[in-house]
Amino acid sequence: MSPTRHAAARALLSDPLTNKGTAFTEDERDRFGLHGLLPPHVGTLESQIERRRKALEEKESDFQRYAFLRELQDSNEVLFHALVQSDLPRMLPLVYTPTVGEGCERFSEIYRRPRGLFLSYPNKDRIDDILADPAYDRVKVIVVSDGERILGLGDQGAGGMGIPIGKLALYTACAGIHPAEVLPILLDLGTDNHARREDPLYIGWRAPRVRGKDYDDFVEAFVSAVNDRFPGVLLQWEDFAGKNAYDLLGRYRDRLLSFNDDIQGTAATAVGTLLSAIRKTGVPITEQRVVLFGAGAAGSGVAEMLVQAMQHDGLSEAEARAKIWAVDRDGLILSDIPRLPPQQVKLARDPAEIAAWNLTGANLITLHDVIANVKPTVLIGTSGQKSAFDERAIRTMAENVDRPVIFPLSNPLSRAEAHPEDVLEWTGGKAIVGTGSPFGTPGVTQVNNVYVFPGIGLGALASGASGVSDGMFMAAARRLGELHEGDGGLLPPVTALREVALEIAVAVAAQAVAEGLATAEPDTLTRENIAASMWMAEYAAHG
Ligand code: NAD
Repeated sequence: MSPTRHAAARALLSDPLTNKGTAFTEDERDRFGLHGLLPPHVGTLESQIERRRKALEEKESDFQRYAFLRELQDSNEVLFHALVQSDLPRMLPLVYTPTVGEGCERFSEIYRRPRGLFLSYPNKDRIDDILADPAYDRVKVIVVSDGERILGLGDQGAGGMGIPIGKLALYTACAGIHPAEVLPILLDLGTDNHARREDPLYIGWRAPRVRGKDYDDFVEAFVSAVNDRFPGVLLQWEDFAGKNAYDLLGRYRDRLLSFNDDIQGTAATAVGTLLSAIRKTGVPITEQRVVLFGAGAAGSGVAEMLVQAMQHDGLSEAEARAKIWAVDRDGLILSDIPRLPPQQVKLARDPAEIAAWNLTGANLITLHDVIANVKPTVLIGTSGQKSAFDERAIRTMAENVDRPVIFPLSNPLSRAEAHPEDVLEWTGGKAIVGTGSPFGTPGVTQVNNVYVFPGIGLGALASGASGVSDGMFMAAARRLGELHEGDGGLLPPVTALREVALEIAVAVAAQAVAEGLATAEPDTLTRENIAASMWMAEYAAHG
């Protein structure tokens, strides 16, 4: 065999996109000179899944399972995705939340092989060159983070790469985006996490975070390079810290097919789940009274989408806003509170409205005051404040409403505003409950963004949309709210996530057409065609 043929045989085995391990057939082994490099046994994908599942379960912790799965992904992508797809309820928490949190914190410990791109500040003049690699010719979806607000774990610097990698694994698992078409990117602009920076094993750029104009110029150079290299690519902004998250979304959503999952994906997921809950109560959304506790990125996004949903069903914007009361760290958000952040100004109530309220204290209007006076039908927590929904608050709410809808959405478990079992007990089982984290309480729905973002991305790409509009998120929320049938939870089971992504993609693509944003022929955007475009984890014959 010639040296070139030897090198080609090794390349076939070391590229995770072409490697099949023991599943290379006899014929392929002959043609590509793989004999000897592989053991004689010719396996099947099924037997490989079985072997890896056994090895996975023998690991001692979920973090070790996470690391094991990451290594598998870097050696054989088809096998990795086939294993993930074979048991989504078992695998999703290992490749994504909650385990990915520790994966980001300990990313440097388990770093082995390149995956995705680290665009670091010292390489700011090389971005075009780095993106030019022909290996990325097929890229359709990018998830990008700067690692500054990783889940509830704060600044993880370059370790934040675990998030784009994990989210893109879900794009493949749920929306069937081919692994060669996804690109995780970490913008490494330093870290203000001293423990990471001083760790001798840290793989990132050891410098305090770049901020201000230098930060903005870097991101601008990145977006321009992406626009030039990947026209039509879908880009998801992920886990940027609060102000940057809003600024980047505002600046780039019209220049790039892009969205921010923390803000928009959360809103669509929460509102979709709420629509499902409301169907159970039989009270139309236009008659709901909603109290939001914690009006940050997630809470204010939910509020704005609720306003849209109420407007869609006939209310004016003012009438819709009058049905939402937002409470933050200074109590009920009132228009006379100084220096409200822009997203809260829109939610602020006129102090005159509450002049006749019975109040318990003189200084601020507490959640208890709001619940007692508003008699809400819906209570949503996005504050990160453990146990903020106490027994008194929940009992008062249940006194006034037949079927209170109560969503303590804050993550992780330790931050939830209430334990769902307590909520059910205090309301005598009347409450309809959704949580951000998986508590395992029967009948309680986990409100996770994975129900929405893969379908949004698939629908935007299928329709060739020029942007991801608020209307497309609303279409996703409405479709999500319709998908669950029967008793029990509010959303379909995790085993149905591929079907969920497809249903949402069809609705999102139709909305893109309706808004004149689609470039694909409307007739082609059928459920069958979109389903046929979804990749399944199976080996292709090497030609
Ligand atoms: P954020 O920091 O932008 O918002 C938190 C808000 O809570 C801020 O406005 C803050 O002022 C307010 N707050 C803090 N202390 C308070 C108090 N004592 N009383 C009332 N309000 C208070 O964070 P975020 O990105 O909006 O996330 C908030 C929470 O929502 C997190 O725990 C996050 O895990 C959770 N979340 C859940 C989902 C989901 O379930 N799908 C999605 C996104 C975020």
